[in-house]
Amino acid sequence: MENMKEKLNLCLKNHCSACCSDAQIPLTDKELSFLEESGSNLRLRYPILGAWEIGNLGLQRTADGRRIYEMNGRCGYLDNQGLCSVYLDNRRPQTCEDTKPGDYGCQSIRDERGLNRIIPIDEL
Ligand code: SF4
Ligand code: SF4
Repeated sequence: MENMKEKLNLCLKNHCSACCSDAQIPLTDKELSFLEESGSNLRLRYPILGAWEIGNLGLQRTADGRRIYEMNGRCGYLDNQGLCSVYLDNRRPQTCEDTKPGDYGCQSIRDERGLNRIIPIDEL
């Protein structure tokens, strides 16, 4: 069972949890509260610009209105094996749902950390 999980999960296979720590993450207020409940340390990426409410410049908010936060350290929901402990919880942020191994978001953060490209499942 464990072997099968490793085969199917490219994050695990590559011992990677890069996008769950020290990452930029767009969040609604509800998603922010959910992550903060776990003890995650998040702060607005540009707090001063945020106060000016110039979000549509793309500096402060995403096109769908989420504010962009910096996560300091690990997400509180990341377990000791590098797995998301709330993977099936429907309160998990949309960006967590959307980020897949090998996609643009994944690769951007792996590039920042000098990690190789992950080959997406459908290219294997
Ligand atoms: S999606 Fe990419 S960056 Fe995130 S944990 Fe998986 S492999 Fe690492
Ligand atoms: S909720 Fe899960 S997927 Fe999202 S940052 Fe935290 S550990 Fe990673």
